[in-house]
Amino acid sequence: MSALLNNYSRKKISFVKGKGCYLYSTTGDKYLDFVQGIAVNSLGHCHDHLVKAINKQSKKLWHVSNAFTIIEQERLAKRLTQNSFADFVSFQNSGAEATELAIKVARKYFYKKGQSKKNRILCLNESFHGRTLATIFASNSKKATEGFGPKVEGFDQFNFADHKSLEKSITNRTAAIMVETVMGEGGIKVIPDYCLKGLRKLCNKKNILLILDEVQCGIGRTGKFFAFEYAGIKPDIVPIAKGIGGGFPIGACLMTKKVASCMGPGSHGSTFGGNPLAMSVGNAVLDQILKKDFLKKVQLIGKYFHDQLYKLQSEFPNVIKEVRGVGLLVGIKIVPDQALFIKKLIDNKLLTIRAAENVVRLLPPLNVKKENIDQAIVILRKVCKTFK
Ligand code: PLP
Repeated sequence: MSALLNNYSRKKISFVKGKGCYLYSTTGDKYLDFVQGIAVNSLGHCHDHLVKAINKQSKKLWHVSNAFTIIEQERLAKRLTQNSFADFVSFQNSGAEATELAIKVARKYFYKKGQSKKNRILCLNESFHGRTLATIFASNSKKATEGFGPKVEGFDQFNFADHKSLEKSITNRTAAIMVETVMGEGGIKVIPDYCLKGLRKLCNKKNILLILDEVQCGIGRTGKFFAFEYAGIKPDIVPIAKGIGGGFPIGACLMTKKVASCMGPGSHGSTFGGNPLAMSVGNAVLDQILKKDFLKKVQLIGKYFHDQLYKLQSEFPNVIKEVRGVGLLVGIKIVPDQALFIKKLIDNKLLTIRAAENVVRLLPPLNVKKENIDQAIVILRKVCKTFK
């Protein structure tokens, strides 16, 4: 019997090695990995540049307290700001922590302005911002919050694609609207560009901060450094994690100068956040993602993947209901039972992961090759046939 807490329905399969798109199991099988730690291994498993960077840093310095200046952290923060809307960055260890900091900053911002009652955060129903107490009650889904009361106060919710519900939910106590630019766990639901533009305008008009959670969709996953760039808008605060670490736990909260000014020494902290080992990996990830044409390639291969999936959908309209996503943040909404479909894919050596609304997420690394996509399509076609 496992000594692990029973908080996951874990599959029996275990892996001993990973390289690029592939995972190798204890049973000697080779799997095409289109989970990649749920959009974490942005450059695939054991990317040579990342392996070199972590090895090099591991021989120099692992951890020092944030009470000192950490050179690698300064560098990563500078590079993130130079390539985004942000002026300041705070490093954490996970997406939930990054999102919690976003909430804290939004509240403190209005507190410092003498508007301490303007402290509520408006989120989407069925969103996902993490598993801490605040972030579960931000999303407020029954499944995530049941039994974990008392409720953390200060969050309101509105419905996806429901402008009336949004306008109705805003009060003079709303400090920030926090949404995922693309809802990941919620079923790869993309907020259209015109809605993001509208949201930005609405926030400006009502003096509300806009927090865009890019933990899953950021750092190149959609073919832009940040997914919101497609809409040509600038948010105030952006939590990130997953892809920036390429497999090493890193979270970060990016923000503008305007909001950052509310946070002073002692207002937030993290023992591990931004340590030299983590930062050396984060910098190595950016070395690759910021290379000229890297993101253009993500867009091209993303389009190729989508095109192949649309073809598959037209072959099997009774199996694939919808193709969703942007770039390499991809989902197919299927008709058959999700668990059975995913199991059949695994039996055929393709790893995928579920999302809400009976969506199967397909999350290859950002440097995925055309032949890997073709291989996935062959397996998907084979499995679709069994449901015809
Ligand atoms: N926000 C979004 C959009 C996510 O997809 C996730 C994780 O899936 C989180 C926050 C939480 O991140 P973590 O699991 O690293 O705490």
